[in-house]
Amino acid sequence: MFCNQCQAFWHETFSKAKIPQAIHSCEDVHWEYHETTLHNSIRDLKQASDLRCRLCRIIYFTPTDHEHETLLKDVDEPLSIVLTIDPSKGPHPVLSAEFREKSGDGARISKRMVASCSGLLSDENLTTTLKTSAESNNDSTGSDGALELAAFWTKTCLDGHDKCRPPAGHGASSFVPTRLLDVSSNSIRLIESEQEIKEGSDRSFVALSHCWGLIPIIRTLIDNYDEHRKGIAPERLSKTFREAVHATRKLGYRYIWIDSLCIKQDDGEDWAAEAATMCDVYQYATLTIAAAHAPGGDVGCYAERDGLLQLPFFIELPQSAVSKEPTRIQFTSYGRVKDIGGGNPALYGRAWVLQEQLLSPRMLIFDGAQIKWECLTMHGSEKSPTSSTTRHSLYYKYCGILRCAFE
Ligand SMILES: [Zn+2]
Ligand SMILES: [Zn+2]
Repeated sequence: MFCNQCQAFWHETFSKAKIPQAIHSCEDVHWEYHETTLHNSIRDLKQASDLRCRLCRIIYFTPTDHEHETLLKDVDEPLSIVLTIDPSKGPHPVLSAEFREKSGDGARISKRMVASCSGLLSDENLTTTLKTSAESNNDSTGSDGALELAAFWTKTCLDGHDKCRPPAGHGASSFVPTRLLDVSSNSIRLIESEQEIKEGSDRSFVALSHCWGLIPIIRTLIDNYDEHRKGIAPERLSKTFREAVHATRKLGYRYIWIDSLCIKQDDGEDWAAEAATMCDVYQYATLTIAAAHAPGGDVGCYAERDGLLQLPFFIELPQSAVSKEPTRIQFTSYGRVKDIGGGNPALYGRAWVLQEQLLSPRMLIFDGAQIKWECLTMHGSEKSPTSSTTRHSLYYKYCGILRCAFE
């Protein structure tokens, strides 16, 4: 996880810090300012980054592409690449990197914050997930590493969040959309749910929230309904639909509801009947996948990025004689500028999305370089996986209002 130099940095940092025997928050640790020269050239730094040292990866990507091409172009030029930890910058210690000239004490690239302490990491399952995500392929928000975290969020919610279960007496398990896409085999099939999902078998389904966009996307019509019942070749799906199907399968679900395919788009009667059940579709979907950044079907759910720059990393404090459990402190990286989203994602400009967001008890949101999670209990992102706040707090209230407004 860390190169030898970064490990030495932590070792020296801990030897200066005052660490009490019982730690309940990272404020309990009394940190001291500390700095270490990690590497003496860009080549050395890049090598450590390529070997997946979490800190060196973040430090290597702190300068912009333009700075790399101009100020740091000579990768063998002697430079001191210095990492500092500074407790005086805020409530939590902050890590900064500086690229110093070897001759004299000027800076080629002045000090920039690279990460800050974001609390204790005590959840063993999350720790394991973060380790697996960081070690797996994570070059895209659809990579196994990213979906590992999505699976963690889903499981945590389904197993442990009382607030996220449908209200008692609400007929929770009874609703299933009229039609679903069965994605259990290579060929995707449109099914009539009541006829084809056997009594007592698993009716869990995923719903997709997406923008249709200007480029035509595949739709079920009166004329192709029979054909879609036999099977839909994956290459006929839009990129967004293909990736939503991929995520559905990876997360272990068999059925997905996509409006353009599960409602006969040119059958007025069918459309009216199905539109009236749309509240139920989003409310009873086990999970709603939102392609938030995609203005149309050709963009897809997923985006390429460097997962190691997105995920938090953690350090284990030296084990005290009395504490049996390891104490881990989590650090959140700032990531590179180009990965930080620009304004509101495309999906949020769509009128019905408010309904979908408020009705869905769980949302997995693909939003540019990050995946995010929203349920009634938790609101997380890859950078900060388990924040406890949520904007669903008025869910049930809105749910009633929207239900009236929509039907
Ligand atoms: Zn390193
Ligand atoms: Zn939840």
